Amino acid sequence: RKPHVIIIGRPNVGKSTLFNRLVGKKLALVDDQPGVTRDRRFGDAVIAGLEFTIVDTAGWEDDDPDTLPGRMRRQTEISLEGADAALFVIDARAGLTPLDEEIARWLRSQTLPVVPVANKAEGKAGEAGVLEAWSLGFGEPVPLSAEHGEGVADLFGALWPII
Ligand code: GDP
Ligand code: MG
Repeated sequence: RKPHVIIIGRPNVGKSTLFNRLVGKKLALVDDQPGVTRDRRFGDAVIAGLEFTIVDTAGWEDDDPDTLPGRMRRQTEISLEGADAALFVIDARAGLTPLDEEIARWLRSQTLPVVPVANKAEGKAGEAGVLEAWSLGFGEPVPLSAEHGEGVADLFGALWPII
């Protein structure tokens, strides 16, 4: 069994775009509206010979288990059970939000190794957000642009020691 790496983050940070980039095919649904990915999606990823299964998840919106966002969040929690590491994606252009911090608190209560990923970091607009991502408490953030394919290979250095 290949290691499973789960992509976690609030809606619209670019999780599905990163999944597609890592899988190299348009498998995950990408949309401008938050919360479009309803289910987990699994794909085969390889970075510089490091092979793993990448898992795209739905986002977090609130705590109510009876709402669709609540069900999506439960789904994310369930899918952590088989995961060997998590890519915790934030939007470097938007900076950290209270929901990012809530997810960070929850991830800190888990035992899973977490790599903080600052997406949308192309150009200069993401610089402040990349620095902010240090405060999530998971060490050095990996800046990248899933959409433009920049920096994705740098995930190798963060992932190989932990998967
Ligand atoms: P998800 O809800 O976290 O799965 O986010 P999506 O992958 O659906 O992307 C949400 C929006 O962010 C879409 O409009 C994407 O085109 C955009 N997006 C994703 N990655 C990047 C990136 O690297 N840079 C920029 N500027 N936009 C991005
Ligand atoms: Mg998505």
